[in-house]
Amino acid sequence: MTYESILVSACLLGVSCRYDGSHAWCPEVFDELWRSHFIPICPEQLGGLGTPRPPAALDGGGGADVLEGKARVLTGEGEDVTPAFLKGAEEALRLALLAKAKKAILKDRSPSCGCRNIHRREGIGSGVGVTAALLAKNGIQVFSEEGEPLVFWEEMDKC
Ligand code: SF4
Repeated sequence: MTYESILVSACLLGVSCRYDGSHAWCPEVFDELWRSHFIPICPEQLGGLGTPRPPAALDGGGGADVLEGKARVLTGEGEDVTPAFLKGAEEALRLALLAKAKKAILKDRSPSCGCRNIHRREGIGSGVGVTAALLAKNGIQVFSEEGEPLVFWEEMDKC
């Protein structure tokens, strides 16, 4: 039997990798994954950030803008952590390509993983995180933990 490869935000599987050392265990996501070949990822850790770490938010645009060098990711103290977010996104993409994953289930509202809403400097708003944007740009279908698809690619230009 061949199993579908699916990338998944590790925090949704109960891994304590969130910025404050907590997790976001989501039994509904695990119910969907157990018959698949799932690959847990935490792009922020893959990018070299520690746990716990300062919370970060998008500044000047969304994830697609960060990929194009038009926006940044900043901590609350104003530290520019954009390079770590970009590295984490590239590492997540590398794993997706190795596993031939066509689908990802990612934690919404994260500046890395969000696919409907993201943390912006001005608060939570609609948009796509850095990793979600890079995966989508490379043809991987991205869904939130609630099963909602990533906002359409055309909309990402405005996120
Ligand atoms: Fe890591 Fe993504 Fe979960 Fe944030 S939302 S802790 S980057 S897996």
